[in-house]
Amino acid sequence: MAENKLQESIATLKKAGVRITPQRHAVLDYLLNSMTHPTADDIYKALEGKFPNMSVATVYNNLRVLKEVGLVRELTYGDSSSRFDCNTSEHYHIICEKCNKIEDFHYPSLDEVEKLAAQVTGYDVSHHRLEVYGICQECQQLDKEKQ
Ligand SMILES: [Zn+2]
Ligand SMILES: [Zn+2]
Repeated sequence: MAENKLQESIATLKKAGVRITPQRHAVLDYLLNSMTHPTADDIYKALEGKFPNMSVATVYNNLRVLKEVGLVRELTYGDSSSRFDCNTSEHYHIICEKCNKIEDFHYPSLDEVEKLAAQVTGYDVSHHRLEVYGICQECQQLDKEKQ
């Protein structure tokens, strides 16, 4: 499935006239295969073995390009580093308060909230964000083992 998505994404880049460098290809491939919403630093660490000449700045630059084309979303949660998500379909995130992992979950988009907010405030509503916080299964397991 990720392979299909990779081909689709490459087609999108080509259509947008974006050059597909080996590094850009690798960043995209990594994002499509990781469901963990990595930071630019995570991506850099994962790929530096393959591309010894690549810098974190190169990773950022590639992420920016992918974001501009609409293949990647940047997520900010008030901490220092942005996370990157190549699942651009509507979904919500659940965040582990222990290990800061972010996972996707699907729930029908809460369109009524936007409608209600628009009605109540008169805003021209563009989107909404919803995050759920808790302790992930792995961290729960680790806690149990410690006891
Ligand atoms: Zn966790
Ligand atoms: Zn996501």
